[in-house]
Amino acid sequence: MENLKIIDEFKEEVISLRREIHMYPETAFEEYRTSDLVYNYLSKLGLEVKKGINKTGVVAELKVNNAKGTVLLRADMDALPIQEENEVPYKSRKDGKMHACGHDAHTAMLLVTSKVLTQMKEDVNFNVKFVFQPSEERDPGGAIGMIEEGILENPHVDFVFGLHVAGFYKANTIHIREGVMMAEADSFKIKIKGSGGHGAYPHKAVDPILIASHIVIALQAIISREIDPLEPAVLSFGKISSGDVFNVIPETAELEGTVRTLKDEVSKFIKDRIEQNSSQIAQAFRGNATLEYNFGYPPLINHKIAVDFIRDIAREVVGYDKIFEAPVSMGGEDMAYFLRERSGAFYWLGALNEEKGIIYPNHSPKFDIDEDILPTGVKMHVATVLNLGKLYK
Ligand SMILES: [Zn+2]
Ligand SMILES: [Zn+2]
Repeated sequence: MENLKIIDEFKEEVISLRREIHMYPETAFEEYRTSDLVYNYLSKLGLEVKKGINKTGVVAELKVNNAKGTVLLRADMDALPIQEENEVPYKSRKDGKMHACGHDAHTAMLLVTSKVLTQMKEDVNFNVKFVFQPSEERDPGGAIGMIEEGILENPHVDFVFGLHVAGFYKANTIHIREGVMMAEADSFKIKIKGSGGHGAYPHKAVDPILIASHIVIALQAIISREIDPLEPAVLSFGKISSGDVFNVIPETAELEGTVRTLKDEVSKFIKDRIEQNSSQIAQAFRGNATLEYNFGYPPLINHKIAVDFIRDIAREVVGYDKIFEAPVSMGGEDMAYFLRERSGAFYWLGALNEEKGIIYPNHSPKFDIDEDILPTGVKMHVATVLNLGKLYK
């Protein structure tokens, strides 16, 4: 793949774009400055660009003659509400906000990809949609709204690809797996209503704390007794609140927790069983319980044909010995919505470099990337588009 070499000439540009975005981080659905930067960059290339999709989302389209199909490349633009602790020239200029997940890098790499592909247009046989989405970090995520606004049609998208920089993998390595790669992450709240009274006269009250305690213990049996032991599922409580003083039985109690699964149907089953269990337990003790359940991003599922394809091009870009099988992560990613609608793949691009002291994981206030990986990400995107013919056979 000789023509990927020219991407090295864009190294300074992709680094300076990444630093510019890094200095002005914006959190979920407030990516106005970033969205403008993206829009202006793409417009200057002469691409057909639309902004304001699902608030701050931007989509650009590279249209080629006699296109054999359409591919979508996705980047996310949002930062996190974290105070940056790195002392670097491009440190965040905004108090309490930081690109601690590397979405600045995703945006910069995809922008430069769009420039390279525009310049190489003669060699491109497919239409390319460059998608810059808002809010990956905060539920409900930016992807679903953009899909609802129709970005997978006109022209119809056949394949979707995206990558994520990883502070926990060595720079310039690629990590991918077929099938489920990331989990569904749900949250829930159980509201228990009893009836308050004096701690010395429990028979005249309905104790919501006792009900909450039974529910906490009973729900673990859903995982241990009702789910196939070979099926990963986690149910954890992170918050219990009730009462003000030692000798008063309070009126209400609240439990909050999270459920992690690798299959839609497993989380639906758990949700139903939480609801039935809590309300019946509460009734048994003369109270009642209601459930608020929030389904998070669905599990992220990579398609075999696209995974084989990414492994194939990664051999050319990073080399055979730098491609690894990624373990399943119990974290979530809203790229999952794109992969639920279309064939495609999502993969990790390692960003860690011990010699440079870049050793902190994503979401750490000291997270950073080895910027040498930026041209690699561009090469992966460009090679994806140039080799797409292999997927259409
Ligand atoms: Zn993140
Ligand atoms: Zn992320």
